[in-house]
Amino acid sequence: MPKKQIAIIGGGPAGLMAAEVLSISGHHVTLYEAMPTVARKFLLAGKSGLNITHSEDYLRFAERFGTASGKLRHALDAFQPEDVRAWAAELQVETFVGTSGRVFPVAMKASPLLRAWLRRLEANGVNILTRHRWQGFSDAGYVFDTPDGPKAIRPDAVLLALGGASWPKLGSDGHWTAWLKAKAIFVNDFRPANCGFNVAWSPIFRDRFAGAAVKSVVATSTIGSLPGEFVITQHGIEGSLVYAHAAPLRDRLSTGQTAALELDLAPGRSRERIEHDLLKQDSKTSLANRLRKGAGLDGVKASLLRECGSDTDLHDPKRLAQRIKSLSIPVTSIRPIAEAISSAGGVAWDEVDEGYMFMKLPGVFVAGEMLDWEAPTGGYLLTACFATGRAAARGIQTWLQP
Ligand SMILES: Cc1cc2nc3c(=O)[nH]c(=O)nc-3n(C[C@H](O)[C@H](O)[C@H](O)COP(=O)(O)OP(=O)(O)OC[C@H]3O[C@@H](n4cnc5c(N)ncnc54)[C@H](O)[C@@H]3O)c2cc1C
Repeated sequence: MPKKQIAIIGGGPAGLMAAEVLSISGHHVTLYEAMPTVARKFLLAGKSGLNITHSEDYLRFAERFGTASGKLRHALDAFQPEDVRAWAAELQVETFVGTSGRVFPVAMKASPLLRAWLRRLEANGVNILTRHRWQGFSDAGYVFDTPDGPKAIRPDAVLLALGGASWPKLGSDGHWTAWLKAKAIFVNDFRPANCGFNVAWSPIFRDRFAGAAVKSVVATSTIGSLPGEFVITQHGIEGSLVYAHAAPLRDRLSTGQTAALELDLAPGRSRERIEHDLLKQDSKTSLANRLRKGAGLDGVKASLLRECGSDTDLHDPKRLAQRIKSLSIPVTSIRPIAEAISSAGGVAWDEVDEGYMFMKLPGVFVAGEMLDWEAPTGGYLLTACFATGRAAARGIQTWLQP
């Protein structure tokens, strides 16, 4: 079969994974990246521990993508969490399962994995051109801004792997939405996912607790009850437990409803036990002492009880116990998408076929966070980016067959 020219635009996990699959097929693969280096978001993801996939039962894993689970299933089936671990091991990166079931490289960082991955791509003949910013479609083909001026290409197949719209300073700025919309492709508006929220903290609480972690609590929403921790910020709340409940909170706010993070501040104790222990406290001692001795709460947790709700409850053991077990932190609005871990929205699934090709743009494929899916943190995001990158690469191989 004659060698074809394949252009991959976007050097994140999805684009790099597609490049790997396609490079083995013997075609000429060129990857175009706008930034001076590839995979900046992937590297940042590794700063706080690269959670590369999750070890839970695969059927449960495959349901973590909400309404897009069915659409992603084919791609995920072909590259399951075990495959992600085996792939990393091939790159000499051993992984381990953390206590929560999340999977991390032993080194926790993304850089050793990325270095080994890029070496492999180079050995396979992938040509990576950085500082090549795609500027949209034109009569001349695909036009790029490059250090040597504008350049146009006309490859046999193109994969768009330009990412979503969070952390635009790392490269995924979402500018491509306008170019695809101009081609009559339906793109659902981007919304923050795995994001923080604003809370109207009192100045005293904010000054004292911004940066404090609220640990060992349980938060409940329509997705269920999850244990974990989160952080108080100048503006409100963020962190893994908030991200886990971010989608239902965001969806309530965006439909004009009120929204609150519902917390159990003392998961190990029943309401009855707390009430009983609070009743035993001398009502003349300070609230801080009663909370510490009667409910084991102090610091930021004790102050949250004062901050959220009326003062009268604080003097009634029954109502105080109730508040400890079901504290509502009202959130006023969503933090900007530029701060979010990921984005919801993107290319509508109806626009692509099973091989991840745009039905309105034959020969043009899409993968990664550009597509309209979202998932919680826990390694689901990267796994789906890898899996869709591979699925789109297989789609390209099929398309290029004579
Ligand atoms: C702080 C943080 C921590 C995270 N931690 C984790 C984690 O632990 N586990 C996990 O599963 N996920 C994590 N994620 C999410 C994960 O990093 C993303 O889901 C993933 O990187 C998306 O991959 P992608 O290839 O679709 O897009 P991206 O990684 O965004 O890559 C897209 C690439 O396209 C390039 N590009 C964009 N426009 C153009 C253009 N016009 N021309 C040329 N190139 C262009 C960009 O520069 C970028 O390099 C984290 C994200 C953040 C922000």
